[in-house]
Amino acid sequence: MKVVLLSSIASLKNGHASALEKPVTTPPKNQPAPFPFHGLLKNDGKTYSNWGLSNTTKPAVYAEPISYEDVQAIVKDTKRFPTPVSPVGAMLSVSKTIVNDGGTLLCTTKLDEIIGLETDGKGRKIVRVQAGCRLKKLNLWLQSRGFEIPFQAEIGEATVGSVAVGDTKDSSLDGVGFFSAGVTALSYVNAEGELCSISDSVDEASFYEFKCSFGLLGIVLECQIEVRPATLCTSKYSLHQLKSPEDLSEELIRLHKGCDAFFASVILDKLYAICDQRFKAGLGSITPASSQPQFNALRLAKRSNIQHGATPRPNINNLQPLIKEITYSRADMVNEYWRPSADESRVDFQYYEHDLAKIKAVISQSYAFTKAFEEKHSFVPNTWALYFLNRPESKKKPYGLYSSGLGVSFSFDPLFSNPTDPKWQMFAKEYNSLAIKTLGGKPSPIQTQWLKPDELVIPKKLAHPRFTTAYYSQFLG
Ligand SMILES: Cc1cc2nc3c(=O)[nH]c(=O)nc-3n(C[C@H](O)[C@H](O)[C@H](O)COP(=O)(O)OP(=O)(O)OC[C@H]3O[C@@H](n4cnc5c(N)ncnc54)[C@H](O)[C@@H]3O)c2cc1C
Repeated sequence: MKVVLLSSIASLKNGHASALEKPVTTPPKNQPAPFPFHGLLKNDGKTYSNWGLSNTTKPAVYAEPISYEDVQAIVKDTKRFPTPVSPVGAMLSVSKTIVNDGGTLLCTTKLDEIIGLETDGKGRKIVRVQAGCRLKKLNLWLQSRGFEIPFQAEIGEATVGSVAVGDTKDSSLDGVGFFSAGVTALSYVNAEGELCSISDSVDEASFYEFKCSFGLLGIVLECQIEVRPATLCTSKYSLHQLKSPEDLSEELIRLHKGCDAFFASVILDKLYAICDQRFKAGLGSITPASSQPQFNALRLAKRSNIQHGATPRPNINNLQPLIKEITYSRADMVNEYWRPSADESRVDFQYYEHDLAKIKAVISQSYAFTKAFEEKHSFVPNTWALYFLNRPESKKKPYGLYSSGLGVSFSFDPLFSNPTDPKWQMFAKEYNSLAIKTLGGKPSPIQTQWLKPDELVIPKKLAHPRFTTAYYSQFLG
């Protein structure tokens, strides 16, 4: 892999790389770290949990670095910071991706500066931002300057570092629908503790591979993300109840064709869909005053619905869309979610990507599965999230989700309100087999839980032992 090592620490400005790209000599291995670690460090046996409180881990060391030098010190010092070193951001992920018992859990939360807007060597307008920055903060910052990124999923807590090399989904306007597609360059610390930069201008192939690596090749510290002038979106909401899963698929295909981006929340056991057809509505960075206060009511209703995992289930016999049509800034719809307590309802989900050609088979067989499960166990998921994404050419996404070349994908994701409910867990585990083995859906190690080793392959070349946890090593092939 061809990468540029960034200049030595003394020449780094304010802890960020700022394109000071001068090769340096790598210090020999097994030497003490050349600089002390200044950030927060805990090795008191404390446990850490993900947002949904469904996965807990007990690392030997938990560290919150406050500079790039700190991250280098951690990676270089194998005695003080036991292998594996695994990075986390907001720990929102539903799967065991955050689990690193006995290793070093490195949390990027304090590296969250937005460094600025620039024009890169290819003439693109980009924002340079640190890995621990949350997406809502980035969206607000760009919005106030009249810019946006195309990926504007409703999750504001996810961090840039995680989504730059991990899996995401959004029914984006004028965009592919996953965050990493917009990342044009990265700075990271490799397994030797060197600060490196990689981009689509210097070594395209390695760069695209790195963006499929889930932090197993290095800890992302800084990203450059392409931005564009901010735009508005008009959403048309509609409710549909169909007689059969085949009719439901046809209706969803029709609605998808009739707009610029499409999202639906499907109450599958009732063949009921709450649909959001999105249309480009021209330039603009802020939700028009004429859309208020309805927009804010809608935003808060959506946030509550997502936070609580689509519970209570709506009474579909008496359901009216809150709003039929509204024009808004998608950046305003990016929400913050509070960390729930164990007795609160909270969202949990499973993710699968399918090719659009399979939509009828996926919806029909998922419906049959759900009804059979309901009959046997009196349980159904609260809803299913249906995202549509546009896949790029496969060289730009060589592995994992969205790697099948140009085309349209959709996801069909069951969602529930209690991650630890035994019936939900049984449903999700059994459904994995249908979605992945029978229907050929692609899962994500970050967004799909209870995966078996034969249900996901991550190429060995995308993982270095210094960063590879037991969770990830089971998928290497
Ligand atoms: C309420 C809620 C709503 C959600 N909505 C959406 C949605 O609409 N769309 C969507 O796509 N997802 C959604 N998600 C999922 C979430 O966006 C992803 O799981 C995201 O990766 C979480 O970011 P994080 O910072 O919490 O990552 P973490 O959970 O902290 O880390 C996940 C993994 O990312 C990698 N990683 C983290 N930081 C770095 C780094 N600096 N360098 C290299 N690798 C790193 C590691 O493999 C790590 O294990 C939602 C989750 C919740 C709880």
